[in-house]
Amino acid sequence: MSADTQGQAELIRAADIADAAFVDATVGIVGLGLIGGSIAHDLAAAGVRVLAHDRDPLALERGLAAGVIQGPLGSRFERLPEVDVLLIAVPVDATLEVLDGVAQLDPQCLVMDVGSTKTSIVRAADASALGSRFVGAHPLAGDHRSGLAAAGQGLFRGATVYLCPAAGVAPTLRDRAWHFWQRLDAKPQLIDAEEHDALLAWTSHLPQATASALARALLAADIAGDQLGPGGRDTTRLAASDPDMWSAILLDNASNVGDALDRLTREIETLRQLIASGDRTLLHRFLAEGRAFRV
Ligand code: NAP
Repeated sequence: MSADTQGQAELIRAADIADAAFVDATVGIVGLGLIGGSIAHDLAAAGVRVLAHDRDPLALERGLAAGVIQGPLGSRFERLPEVDVLLIAVPVDATLEVLDGVAQLDPQCLVMDVGSTKTSIVRAADASALGSRFVGAHPLAGDHRSGLAAAGQGLFRGATVYLCPAAGVAPTLRDRAWHFWQRLDAKPQLIDAEEHDALLAWTSHLPQATASALARALLAADIAGDQLGPGGRDTTRLAASDPDMWSAILLDNASNVGDALDRLTREIETLRQLIASGDRTLLHRFLAEGRAFRV
């Protein structure tokens, strides 16, 4: 066998072993909503055993009935010792509470969250007993709907998943986190937690905040949703997102989001002045620069 063929065979064997470990694993999920439920759908389809906890007992009943989970994790995570990978899929403020509870149980598994902010969560894990086994994750997948009813298989296919390992995490657990998301057909990418939050303030949190502000302005002008054309519907879609979930995200990333909103406020003020001044050339340049971003 040539060195190349042998190297490839070793890689395939390593992938087989990793795949077997994935299929044989038991995964715990806290929060069986859009993201947790979609992870459960994918895992169930891959033959992985899933135990879950949600504060809404109906979500668990529905998960069991749909066959996407195999049993309860327990309201105090009583079955945590059976779990190889624990995913915390609740709003970011609740994630900090759940992390604290899990850390006190000194679990031996890989622990990940899926929250839309990362700095405070990874810091909390670092400062707890989970520092050697926590990898923060943020899948760039989902939409404005919430709950298990909105969950489904294949949500993470092709999606970037940012991974922010705790400073002291064991390399084997970091690799397991990477492999876990790859098996859901996602594209994992390592990033520093602070860098993540600074970037997401622009790419996700500012668009959400803008859609909410635009919807409020329309409401104040007595415009009803069904009066909007396709453009108005597109630009206000995110305003339909869950206010509980988004209050937690915007407050957790307040400083970065504040900077982004300041910049947007200046852009809106410039636009207002250009329209008032009647300067067609400068107004055209403003709109053309915006257009260049998209085409
Ligand atoms: P979701 O659909 O509202 O699901 C969250 C579930 O967790 C709900 O069933 C909720 O119950 C439950 N829950 C809340 N607090 C809990 C607690 N302390 N213990 C146990 N269960 C609890 O939310 P999601 O959209 O899946 O979002 C989950 C996480 O993913 C958030 O951190 C979010 O930032 C992140 N994320 C969301 C998206 C997205 O597009 N939605 C994308 C990427 C990341 P109740 O219904 O009773 O509140």
